[in-house]
Amino acid sequence: MDAKTLVKRALVSSRVLDFAARFAPASAVILMYHSVQDQPELYVNSIGAGIIHSTAVFTRHMEIVARRFNPVPLTDLLLFLDGARHLPRRPVVVTFDDGFADNSQIAAPVLNRIGIPASFYLTVALIGTQTAPWYCRVRHALNTTTKGLWHDSVEGSDWKLSTPHRRTQASQVVWDRCAKLPHAEREEAVNTLERELEVPTFTCQRPLMMSWDDARSLHRVGHIVGSHTLNHPNVAHIGEADALMELVESKRVLEIELAAPVEHFSYPHPALNPNWNGSTVTLCRQAGYRSALTTDTGPVRKGANPLALARVSTPCRETDFLWYLDCAFLGRKG
Ligand SMILES: [Zn+2]
Repeated sequence: MDAKTLVKRALVSSRVLDFAARFAPASAVILMYHSVQDQPELYVNSIGAGIIHSTAVFTRHMEIVARRFNPVPLTDLLLFLDGARHLPRRPVVVTFDDGFADNSQIAAPVLNRIGIPASFYLTVALIGTQTAPWYCRVRHALNTTTKGLWHDSVEGSDWKLSTPHRRTQASQVVWDRCAKLPHAEREEAVNTLERELEVPTFTCQRPLMMSWDDARSLHRVGHIVGSHTLNHPNVAHIGEADALMELVESKRVLEIELAAPVEHFSYPHPALNPNWNGSTVTLCRQAGYRSALTTDTGPVRKGANPLALARVSTPCRETDFLWYLDCAFLGRKG
């Protein structure tokens, strides 16, 4: 173990950071998760290792949240922002982006057993379908093709796919290109990529995304179900009319399927920075959302804009997880 890790471990276990945070302004932390899998290795070429937690790691995280912090629902946090509710010390909101099936099948039972309310943001057009998100299809095509060379017909350039690093670099080019396209053009671009790489469209034996019954069961037990757009573009990089359609239509479909109002949104961040701006905040308000989560890092303080809330990422290693949380409550990025 390196010296930095040893120092972090000593600090988080001594709880000196918790003590120091008593003198920092009152704040809350919103944790960001995507996928929880019993066998993460099966999804490395689709969902991607970087956003998967094993069931054991996620369970440990939630036990830590319940024991050392105070899990609160997003709705309580919103009241705190307005000064309408006092929160317990070190309040933590748990959130999931994308709408993967494991959220309801693996993560929710853990949350329900421990008693942690969470918010789930669905990529609405994919719910109840066999279709994988477009960014997963891109990763799958470039990671699994047997071709050693990809001729990018858009740029006219050639990519050697001889190492995992080169495949990731090529994927990044496609993610950046597709994140700002309207839906139909993005579909065509991903179809073209799969054709050029001679890879069949990615399908999973078990659906990757949750069903509408899954979504309804999350809602029924009291978790928040919100929108993560229809098709997962970067709404700060597509045209305003497309962005508004993604915000409004996803909300409308969710409200019909859940038979309940949908007031909460999470900005997709498939590629490109930033993934929100002043204009997307205005569009969220126009579409009727009460809150919107970004992928910016940091704690949430009283008075923060509810339509641009920062979150904290969730490293698998326990020391790092506690370090990120402790630093956030001190007002630092870690
Ligand atoms: Zn997402």
